[in-house]
Amino acid sequence: MRDMINFLPIDEVKNSDHFIRALKIENQWNKAKVSQEMGNPYLSPSKICLMKREEDFDANLSGEEGTTEEAKTSWFKRIKKGILTSTAEKKETPEGLWTKCPSCNYICTVTELRENVFVCPKCSFHHRIGSDEYFEILFNDNKYDVLFENIRSKDFLHFTDLKSYQKRLEETWNKTDITDSIRIAAGHVREHHMVVGCMDFEFIGGSLGSVMGERIARAVDYCLLHKAPLLIICKSGGARMMESAFSLMQLAKVSAKLSQLTDARIPYISLLTDPSFGGISASFGMLGDFNIAEPGALIGFAGPRVIRETIKKDLPEGFQRSEFLLEHGFLDFIVNRKELKQKIATVLTLLLN
Ligand SMILES: [Zn+2]
Repeated sequence: MRDMINFLPIDEVKNSDHFIRALKIENQWNKAKVSQEMGNPYLSPSKICLMKREEDFDANLSGEEGTTEEAKTSWFKRIKKGILTSTAEKKETPEGLWTKCPSCNYICTVTELRENVFVCPKCSFHHRIGSDEYFEILFNDNKYDVLFENIRSKDFLHFTDLKSYQKRLEETWNKTDITDSIRIAAGHVREHHMVVGCMDFEFIGGSLGSVMGERIARAVDYCLLHKAPLLIICKSGGARMMESAFSLMQLAKVSAKLSQLTDARIPYISLLTDPSFGGISASFGMLGDFNIAEPGALIGFAGPRVIRETIKKDLPEGFQRSEFLLEHGFLDFIVNRKELKQKIATVLTLLLN
């Protein structure tokens, strides 16, 4: 710096900002050096370096040019690392306020979707819902009695996979207020007093266990006693492997109970929703006086991937969807969820008169 001064008009250099800044910094260095020599522990070399850098940073902020090449690039450097906003200051949207349609990506509020009975307002995609929502859609004024809640699953076989079956059951009971994969409710749907059994996929994949079988059997007894029609809303992955043969026995048990309804000339309707697989579709899911389904529901015995790998052939488009099944004569009709209550009431009126 001092060598440079010799080649330039002195006054001009002395009055320039650069010169004053350079002197300042040199002064600081000297001060730091002296205090270091004097053994000042508060001004370690790293601290001096930091002082210099902060000064460069201030200069950058005020729009002046930094003194070193490092200072110039520090415009783009983050001096303080990490996220410094405290959790309390963070602005978050409440969880579950917005929802996105998996089919057409239409975004709307959960309230709007609920008002539309969980059917996408844009593309009519039917979102998966639980028994609470179906009961609300079907029963007049959302009034119904839940039956047979006291029957609970038991780990007869001491089955253990990743964790023991008993532990899995207890965890599901604690996590949800559902006691098993089917809930039975009795109430009025329009003018008909009827019993509705609805599966919850949330409870171990809506799997068919001994409790589901027993609840349906008792629901049939209730229907026989009250001369009430039965509707079962299916949503299941199939039999519950943790109960092995006990769950498979339910297929025969429920089928036998349903034949008692036929003998008593009481209607039974099966509504298949997305997804209905395995033992459900192989027994009572397809035994209704009317077998109906929601649009676009995946219904079958084995999944498409398993079938494709077994027959080593590509499957036709829309395979195992309700529209495909209707075309091939497995279903009586497809019903939009918005018209579900009205259609069920109409069908029952026709059957009972
Ligand atoms: Zn949609």
